[in-house]
Amino acid sequence: MIFTYQYIKHDIEKLQEFLDFLFYDVWLVAEGTFNFSKLDKNPDLKNICEKLELEDTKWGNFFNSRIAWIYDEFAKIKDNNFKLDLIDFYHNNNNIEALCSSKTLSPLTYSELEVKYPDLEKAINSFYSKLYGSESPFNLDAFGQLSKKLLQSHYKAFVDSNNDGICPFCGLNSIDGNIVSTKDAYDHFLPKSIYPFNSINFKNLSPMCYKCNSGNKSTNDPIEHIKGRKLAFYPYSIIHPKIEFGFKLLSKNVKALTPKDYILSINCLIKAEEIETWKRVFKIDIRYDELICNKHKAKEWYEDVYDYFENAKALVEIEDAEKYFEKVIKSTTRNPRSVKNTIKRKFLEECKANGLFKNNTM
Ligand SMILES: [Zn+2]
Repeated sequence: MIFTYQYIKHDIEKLQEFLDFLFYDVWLVAEGTFNFSKLDKNPDLKNICEKLELEDTKWGNFFNSRIAWIYDEFAKIKDNNFKLDLIDFYHNNNNIEALCSSKTLSPLTYSELEVKYPDLEKAINSFYSKLYGSESPFNLDAFGQLSKKLLQSHYKAFVDSNNDGICPFCGLNSIDGNIVSTKDAYDHFLPKSIYPFNSINFKNLSPMCYKCNSGNKSTNDPIEHIKGRKLAFYPYSIIHPKIEFGFKLLSKNVKALTPKDYILSINCLIKAEEIETWKRVFKIDIRYDELICNKHKAKEWYEDVYDYFENAKALVEIEDAEKYFEKVIKSTTRNPRSVKNTIKRKFLEECKANGLFKNNTM
């Protein structure tokens, strides 16, 4: 990715805290049958569950019935070593940063859990797959209304702190800020359909532009645990290396470039595997080719230099467009996080190096 987000603390994290409590203090120590006394150590959650029981609503009943079902399935597990493994897996599946940056940590997928304990997988999947989105029980008043209130408030605070207005996953498209009423959707970086336990963990959730989220990443798994484990950039990493762009022309026909006419290189020597993961998941190469070639974008960039030249030529006798190159290059440095600016600058520098501003044949 082009840059990383700054993680923000927010009340929305209390939902994950409820789930942590359920896993460590309720399900892992399950014996016999579930009842609300098992929640005594967390009076807030116990009050909510008792309230939901009285209200007798669809989502409230769903929440209570699922935590009881998972409890019953945990109580059936007699293999204590597997329970110890589950502690590691729960911790790992929520340690998004470590899963992205190291292959020594093993996550757990639904398919792996299904092989070992199919009934437990069914119970956990039916619960966690519903926790985020329009069908979530967290949308109830008792939990603070996830979609209508908590997410709105989180988004506002998030874009206040992350105010570049650019999607860091592509560097191309904008991210809605607080002036407009629309909001970009949150993406589960590690897909919630593959990995249990992290569907409401906000270290695994971040706003992403529509094209990155729905059109390209979709449910692609950045760390590819099933296919052969890959490293990936962590979206909230505090340190993120600079990505180096290079542009080499193979043809001088800059007014009608096709992808065969140039080599666009995108490198980061110390994070070579992460770069490849990022390009694969977000289909970066083809999207940047589209930027350069579609609608004659490179042609427009080339003509920007001549626009300055033509304006100046009317006032004084100047015959060299190259003098106006620096003005256009300067304008591409105003927002260094915009990939459009970076590629435009690299392209124009390559045009100059090839002497394409020397003869004024526009
Ligand atoms: Zn994007």
